[in-house]
Amino acid sequence: MSGAKGPAPDLPGFTFTESIGGGGFADVFLFTQHSTGRPVAVKVLRAEHLSAASLGQFQVEANVMAGVSAHPYIVTIHDAGVAPDGRPYIVMEHYPQPHFGIRSRGGRLGVAEVLKLAVQIACAVETAHRASILHRDIKPANVLTSAFGDPGLTDFGIAGVQADDGVTAAGGVSLGFAAPEVVLDEHATGSVSSDVYSLAATVYALLTGHSPVFVPGGDNSPGVITQRIAQGTTVPLTRADVPRSFQHLLNAALAADPAHRPDRAVSFAQAVQDVEQELRLPATPLVLVGPSSPAARIERSADDDEGTRRKPRVVSVDGAPAPA
Ligand code: ATP
Repeated sequence: MSGAKGPAPDLPGFTFTESIGGGGFADVFLFTQHSTGRPVAVKVLRAEHLSAASLGQFQVEANVMAGVSAHPYIVTIHDAGVAPDGRPYIVMEHYPQPHFGIRSRGGRLGVAEVLKLAVQIACAVETAHRASILHRDIKPANVLTSAFGDPGLTDFGIAGVQADDGVTAAGGVSLGFAAPEVVLDEHATGSVSSDVYSLAATVYALLTGHSPVFVPGGDNSPGVITQRIAQGTTVPLTRADVPRSFQHLLNAALAADPAHRPDRAVSFAQAVQDVEQELRLPATPLVLVGPSSPAARIERSADDDEGTRRKPRVVSVDGAPAPA
């Protein structure tokens, strides 16, 4: 992440407070909403990205997030619109604490906290899947921290070119966190299983401070990382306080062969709960919204649009944006 690259828009009903940051296509600003007095984060598509494709993708992001944002661990969308200067924007709940890309640096998070976060983020991912949405870019920097310290999964849509950990993303994917089948096949559109891989890579990074294909102190150029991914190599987890059962679970979820991974995010969450039980920790509750069946439909839909879309990061099953 870097600073905002464009100016804050004038938004009727809101007062600009400060710039938060900028991604590949959009800037995020802190505003105060007059009607409620609350701080809100406003994501604005940058003026140089007002092509029909980017506008459409931004609209999809707003719609899919609105469709699942009632979930406690998915960032809440309050509103969306077009600023007087023509730039579309999304008004979100403001997550004031650093995101988990920053909070996990140096592997400082405790095992019990990571287990809890793993269940909570897995529930957010499972809920998106149940709403027929693939996230496609799950990584620590896309998990924000609420005022209460809870995680909030975000960034459901604008394709980026620079990942937050300094690893260049290829074709709209974050190299350190994308599944091998997505990195190695430029036509791959992602699947429930590739989201499960990214979920596990994120949990691994919460424990270690780096992605499973990032060698601390080693050569982590995109070419070398891609080679590591092609060879199916991941960096062994060496934290002594991580129980063997949790290491096995992460290894399975990071398997190069999708068939060896937990079949769903909720299966991963349940396996994490088993580890919590083994450690005599209270099981973090599963918070899930929506019926459990649409995941299979996502897989079919991803196959259907293979070759026609260039790694869109959010897919709505029937091709239409999820209802706002
Ligand atoms: P890209 O979208 O290209 O992957 P990114 O994730 O860095 O890049 P954005 O999602 O546009 O870009 O976010 C830009 C910055 O704003 C990031 O630092 C992000 O943590 C922060 N941010 C985004 N949404 C919020 C929010 N609701 N509350 C607080 N900070 C936010």
